[in-house]
Amino acid sequence: MKISNRKRVLVTGGAGFLGSHLCERLLRDGSDVLCIDNLYSGTKDNIEHLLSNPRFEFQRHDVTFPVYLEVDEIYNLACPASPVHYQRDPVQTTKTSVHGSINMLGLAKRTGARIFQASTSEVYGDPEVHPQTEDYWGRVNPIGVRSCYDEGKRCAETLFFDYNRQHGLEIKVARIFNTYGPRMHPNDGRVVSNFIVQALQGNDITIYGDGLQTRSFCYVDDLIEGFVRLMSSPADLTGPINLGNPSEFTIRELAEAVLELVGGSSSLVFRPLPHDDPMQRQPNISMAKQHLDWTPEIPLREGLKKTISYFRNL
Ligand code: NAD
Ligand code: UDP
Repeated sequence: MKISNRKRVLVTGGAGFLGSHLCERLLRDGSDVLCIDNLYSGTKDNIEHLLSNPRFEFQRHDVTFPVYLEVDEIYNLACPASPVHYQRDPVQTTKTSVHGSINMLGLAKRTGARIFQASTSEVYGDPEVHPQTEDYWGRVNPIGVRSCYDEGKRCAETLFFDYNRQHGLEIKVARIFNTYGPRMHPNDGRVVSNFIVQALQGNDITIYGDGLQTRSFCYVDDLIEGFVRLMSSPADLTGPINLGNPSEFTIRELAEAVLELVGGSSSLVFRPLPHDDPMQRQPNISMAKQHLDWTPEIPLREGLKKTISYFRNL
């Protein structure tokens, strides 16, 4: 039986980059937060400052195994997000998205909790529709090196919508576009952390391909605001809904911006483009604007400055 009026919120993957910012935000908003994470790509350092808070609890647990808890809301973020991490053990990556979602949806069904899924722009694959709208079905290679992540996340979306239709669960599915900020893992291979770390260490900046492929980068605080708004939106707003910053840059432009802000003497070097690397990516966020009154506010250079200062102090 629930005695306190405070919301009990479960965050899976809460010791990761986005999860740790989300836990922080939920605590600030007055909820009790339970973070579960197997520390595959996250670290306890990300949540160290929260461990002394009596409203915060950490449990080391792998979501591919069932867990029995009493909660009011679930944010399902568990899944490595960087290509280097998710390709290291691709079978586990698919299991995390598929078995993990089944376990968390089962928990939501038993407890009546509202459940949020951290889906991804990767469900659009290498898109022919630009910018990407939520009604675009995507162009994903089912058997490539990125498939464990892309198809795992697509199957997770299927499961969320089937639990909604079949069992009446209240679901919230966000399709997240590239997000950056403090607490990205310095070695996780994602482009923003790679470029900043390389520039700070005076090493070459590694551009894959010709650097003309594009991405749209959202600062973490903006994204977390979108998560919280989506979770508290009316029950019939299931998503999927794009969350990301529509300002689009080539990877070469990103490298130049990082170099200019960090200073130093690094040079740009060109390396082969990884398999199935999408050529362009930009969210259409009309749905988020209309239904959540949400638009990202932090421009790339401002967000990069905050991120650079985090990596400088590591
Ligand atoms: P991250 O790797 O920093 O965090 C993921 C967390 O999940 C880590 O702490 C990891 O240890 C944990 N985890 C992995 N497998 C697990 C398992 N089986 N059981 C329990 N915990 C497990 O990545 P992130 O950038 O914080 O991404 C969080 C979520 O958001 C992911 O689901 C990711 O797919 C999604 N997402 C992120 C981005 C982005 O740009 N950061 C973009 C699209 C989607
Ligand atoms: N990238 C790059 N140099 C790096 C790391 C990544 O040029 O050191 C490129 C990568 O090939 C891709 C883009 O940057 O085109 C974004 O890569 P990231 O891994 O951050 O995210 P995703 O490909 O999943 O969007």
